[in-house]
Amino acid sequence: MSKKLFIPGPIDVSEDVLEKMATPVISHRSKEASELQKSITEKAKKLFYTDNEILLSTSSGTGLMEGSIRCCTAKRAAVFSCGSFGDRWHKMGITNGVPTDLFKVELGQAIEPEMVDKVLATGKYDLITVTHNETSTGIRNPIEDIGQILKKYDDVVYCVDTVSSAGGIKIPVDEIGIDICITSVQKAIGLPPGMSLCTFSEKSRKRAEKVPNRGVYFDLLSMYEYIKKKNYQYPSTPSLSHMFALNYQLEKILEEGLENRFKRHEDMAKIVRNWAEEHFEIFTDKNHLSNTLTVVKNTQNIDVSNLNEELQKRGYLIANGYGELKDKTFRISHMGDYTENDIRDLLKNIDDILGFQLKIVSFINM
Ligand code: PMP
Repeated sequence: MSKKLFIPGPIDVSEDVLEKMATPVISHRSKEASELQKSITEKAKKLFYTDNEILLSTSSGTGLMEGSIRCCTAKRAAVFSCGSFGDRWHKMGITNGVPTDLFKVELGQAIEPEMVDKVLATGKYDLITVTHNETSTGIRNPIEDIGQILKKYDDVVYCVDTVSSAGGIKIPVDEIGIDICITSVQKAIGLPPGMSLCTFSEKSRKRAEKVPNRGVYFDLLSMYEYIKKKNYQYPSTPSLSHMFALNYQLEKILEEGLENRFKRHEDMAKIVRNWAEEHFEIFTDKNHLSNTLTVVKNTQNIDVSNLNEELQKRGYLIANGYGELKDKTFRISHMGDYTENDIRDLLKNIDDILGFQLKIVSFINM
């Protein structure tokens, strides 16, 4: 039986999207391949509210994260982290030989714009990275306010990881002033894993031209140049199957209406938050809650593995905590093409397994 995946990616993929993956393969150097990538680009620009170029990568999002810090840091990178995925960006900088410093906040807290301002005021940095939606803690960082700070620092390239938010939360890239906005397709966009995309500003392009050792596979400048010189083609052989499916799914997303889609995510988030507050606690700072996943503090000390085993028998799966938070929290995602009814069904099943109903009944009868 296929399961409904309420883990924070990968999530369920609709049958019609899966079918698009089976489209007969074409040459990656054909006119059709150019048309396909162009068509994805036009739609992705709408999703990100940007006029900047869209780069595709046949890798998950980690590839573009690594490429961005490596290709676009000429001086020194400042990584702002509020959890595991921010920390990982720091590791990518260091292991690629990029001078990189890490600035961390406590788990469950957000990155404050003032902190970014203080760090940039040193004049040491020409690139920063911020995780929009930290999947380990459920924090949605204030990328808009951080963007306001960045307006003071012309020379700084602003990279944002929107891996677990794009497609579920509005990210107006140009208005915020993001230079490289990265996402993977297996989360709120709703495709099987294996492809990622990012926006790429003029500032990033000019910066990459000054960085000599950009590597090969994740050289963002080479991806950009192939688009310009080879009419929207890809430097190596891309996953054309993903591209057929992505083109189709983006069409569906635009048909749903971006604002409708974001509202649906917000509504699903509210249902899960209310449930979490009723039975447990929300782990995350309430001023910065994500609309695509909720991290629940396991105040009742439930056995999450047992719960998941029972849930799987009923066709559902949720996620335990991530990294340091493994045993202290569990995570429920509400992203992609799920509806409020899907979320209610999941929560009803959790209640049933955990016996919350019974507890409430016995309390009323007391
Ligand atoms: N950043 C965040 C916020 C994530 O949630 C993830 C994946 N869980 C990644 C980066 C890494 O993305 P990928 O697995 O697509 O490489």
